[in-house]
Amino acid sequence: MRESQTVTSAPRLPLTFEHQTYAQRVIFGAGSARSGLAAEVERLGCSRVLLIAGASELTVANELAASLPVVATFSGVRPHVPVAVAAAIRLLTAQSRADVLVCIGGGSTTGTAKAAALTTGLPIIAVPTTYAGSEATPVWGLTEDQRKRTGVDLRVLPRTVLYDPELTLSLPVDLTVASALNAVAHCVDAFWAPKADPVNSALAGAGIRALAEALPPLRRDGTDLVARADALYGAYLAAVAFAGAGSGLHHKICHVLGGAYGLPHAAMHAVVLPHVLAFNAPAAPEAARQIAQALGADDAVAGLLDLYAQVGAPQALRDLGLAEADLPEAAVLVSQAAPSSNPRPFGPAEAEELLRQAWAGERPSTEPFENLSASRPEATA
Ligand code: NAD
Repeated sequence: MRESQTVTSAPRLPLTFEHQTYAQRVIFGAGSARSGLAAEVERLGCSRVLLIAGASELTVANELAASLPVVATFSGVRPHVPVAVAAAIRLLTAQSRADVLVCIGGGSTTGTAKAAALTTGLPIIAVPTTYAGSEATPVWGLTEDQRKRTGVDLRVLPRTVLYDPELTLSLPVDLTVASALNAVAHCVDAFWAPKADPVNSALAGAGIRALAEALPPLRRDGTDLVARADALYGAYLAAVAFAGAGSGLHHKICHVLGGAYGLPHAAMHAVVLPHVLAFNAPAAPEAARQIAQALGADDAVAGLLDLYAQVGAPQALRDLGLAEADLPEAAVLVSQAAPSSNPRPFGPAEAEELLRQAWAGERPSTEPFENLSASRPEATA
């Protein structure tokens, strides 16, 4: 750890940081959902399960929950948890007198369980089927009037997570790529998010390594269970790094775009990430060095773009449904959301240029950063 922090030309200061961890039981392994769910419900002393799964995951979820004491099932999952969905799941929770929420699905499904836990305090057992990572964070999100509100509350942190790579075998390859790059984005942003610290950076580096190794084989063969397990492991590390470090510039941008324009979450993250990395890397050289190292590349941006080319990553926000006419408004919204911890000031002009490039699918600008004196001290240790 200490060696990885060494900046060759500058004298090193003694290590100092504050780090927050979150208590959670994690079970990881192929078949773990099938074999472990009932024991985990019992371990929590619960006997009335509210099962939450999106319509397309419902068959698998019912199979996995066959031996559980299910008192109600909710399948009205919608992206970004509209407030009407939150109201519906809360009503069902009360009516069913459930004492535990078992959610099986992607981030939208986990988010639906969190909406119920936020007001009821019921424990969540999460079985993720994508690489979104919501299951390992205390962050909730609700969408109303095209604006997404988020908050941090320990009541929504799942008490138990069962990571079963077998459940990700059905994830279509394009969604696999986008979702895994969403996890890479958690890692990259963790290097300069408000609570970046050496522990979160170490987790983020290990997460990038696992995801970058898993992605090319998964592009070739989505049924590669070893690569599926590696990707899910990387997604967990990414989520823990993100939970600890908080939302950096990348997440703030995507949070605004997702809420205001309803863009598909994982693909939007995948498109925006190289642009944020290219923007911040010149002002955060130690973060860029660690990201490059994790990607096995000499340069962070080139390494990420190389991975994107290998896996056929999504490239342009215009392909995801963002209208060109929305760019000026989006630029104002995202620049207002930029965190003060960002290593480089990000105003409306920078926002407009970054969004325009991401919208058109242009190669991110790697122009040398000309005004380093205006940059803030690097957040990451
Ligand atoms: P999602 O949950 O909406 O799933 C995307 C699609 O994949 C859906 O159509 C779903 O039915 C399908 N799907 C899921 N698993 C599948 C599988 N194994 N096989 C086949 N199809 C499958 O999308 P997501 O990217 O997983 O999650 C995005 C949501 O999660 C967003 O709302 C985002 O804000 C939230 N999120 C929250 C946090 C947090 O910490 N609170 C972190 C990350 C993401």
